[in-house]
Amino acid sequence: MSDPTPADLLAARPHLAVHAADGLLLEGVPLAAIADETGTPSWVTGATTFRARIARLAAALRGVHLHYAVKANDHLAILALAAGAGIGADVVSGGELRRAVAAGFAPARIVFSGVGKTADELRLALAAGIGQINVESPEELLTLSAIAASEGATATVALRVNPDVDARTHEKIATGRAGDKFGIPWPLIPALYARAAALPGIRPVGLAVHIGSQLHDAAPYRAAYARLAGLVRDIRAAGHAVQAVDCGGGLGFPYQGEPALLPEAWAGAIAGALAGMDLTLSAEPGRWIAAPASLLLTRVIRVRREGMPRPMLVLDAAMNDLLRPAMYHAWHGMLPVAARDLAGVPEPTDVVGPVCESSDVFARARPLPPLAEGALVAILDAGAYGAVMSGAYNSRPRAPQVMVDRGRVATIRPRQPPECLWSDETVPPFLAARG
Ligand SMILES: *Cc1c(COP(=O)(O)O)cnc(C)c1O
Repeated sequence: MSDPTPADLLAARPHLAVHAADGLLLEGVPLAAIADETGTPSWVTGATTFRARIARLAAALRGVHLHYAVKANDHLAILALAAGAGIGADVVSGGELRRAVAAGFAPARIVFSGVGKTADELRLALAAGIGQINVESPEELLTLSAIAASEGATATVALRVNPDVDARTHEKIATGRAGDKFGIPWPLIPALYARAAALPGIRPVGLAVHIGSQLHDAAPYRAAYARLAGLVRDIRAAGHAVQAVDCGGGLGFPYQGEPALLPEAWAGAIAGALAGMDLTLSAEPGRWIAAPASLLLTRVIRVRREGMPRPMLVLDAAMNDLLRPAMYHAWHGMLPVAARDLAGVPEPTDVVGPVCESSDVFARARPLPPLAEGALVAILDAGAYGAVMSGAYNSRPRAPQVMVDRGRVATIRPRQPPECLWSDETVPPFLAARG
C-alpha cells in the first residue's frame, strides 16, 4: 500500500480543508488557533463529523438498531452526541455503563458485552435496568442467573456466539475464532439456549456476535451471520423463541485510503443472512463512527538530520497519547498545519514521539514536506481507540481535548496539571520515619 499524498488525504476527508492564510481547518476552524489557545499535544473533535458518520451509518443500516461501542471513544461529550443522535450504547464494563447513563443514554438502550463481567457489574446492570446483557460464557450465565434470582430480577440475555470465523484482521483485534477469549463456542449454543430458558432470572431473547475490528472484507461477516441464522433456526425448531440478533461491530475505517467495506455492504451481509426471519436486528459500531471525527494536534520538538539515514521529526505527542501505531503498527495520515508547510516537496521522514521506548514511532519513511522545529502536525483519524487508550507513561499528563461544532470551540477536557499525576500517591510513614 503506497502512502496517499496530502491531496489524497484531504480529498477523502470533507471535514478538512486548507486556507491560504490560516492553514489546515477542521470543520472550518483553524487548527493553528486551537494550538495557540490550548497548546499541544491536543485532541480536536469535530461534532458535525461525528454526527454525520452516525447519520450515514443509520441510513445504510435502516431497520437495524445501532448501539455505539462506547470503548472507541468514551468522552462524555462524544457520548452526548451519540445519545442525541438517537442511537443506543454498547458497554463493556461497569465504568462504561455508568458513563453511558451519565451521558444521557436511556438504560433500555444500553447493551452490556464483555468476557469478564464481575458479580458487582452484573448487579449494577440489573439495578440500572439495561436493555440487554450479552452473556459470553456458560459460567457467566449461571452466575447471572443466581444474582438475578436472588434479587428477584429478570435479566434480558443474548448469548454471544463464537462463530469460529477468521475476520482476517490484525491478530490483536480478531475475536471470532475458536480459542479466542470471546463468546461461546457455537456448537454449545442450542443446548445452552434451552438451558437458559429454564434458568431462574434469565429471559433469553437472542444471539449476539462480534468477530473483530477494522474489517475490510464482507466474507467473514457473511460467514458469521450465516452461522447465526442457522443457530436461530435450530433453536426455534427446538421450540424456543428467538427475537433478536445483535450483529456486533467491526466495520473498518480506510485510514490509508485502502479499499474499504462500505456501510451498505455491511448492511447487505446482515440482510443477506438474517432478513425476513422476524428478528429485531441491532449492531454495535464504534471505530467507523468515531475514527475520522478527531485528530491529534502536535508540534515538532526537534528535527534530527545529523547522522540519521533520513530526517526524523520528534513530536510532542507520543505513544502514551496515541497507542495504536506502537500497539498495532497502525497507519495514521499526517498533515502539516501551516499552508506553507503543506505545499513543500515530500521526502521520506521518520516520525517519533519523545517517550523512552523503541516502539514510540508514529511512522517510518513517511513522505512529508520538510518541517522545522515548532511546526504543527495533525495526526488524522485518531478519534477511535485514541484518547481512550491514553496513559501517563513517562509522567506525561493527559492531553487536553477540544470540540468544535459549527464554528464554536470548547475545551472538553483541560490539560492535566503535572501535579495531578502524583496527587493520589502517598509515601508511607515508615519511609518518612527513617532516622
Ligand atoms: C469493541 C466492540 C465493538 C466495536 O468494534 P468497532 O471495531 O469499534 O466497530 C462492538 N461490539 C463489541 C462486543 C466490542 O467489544
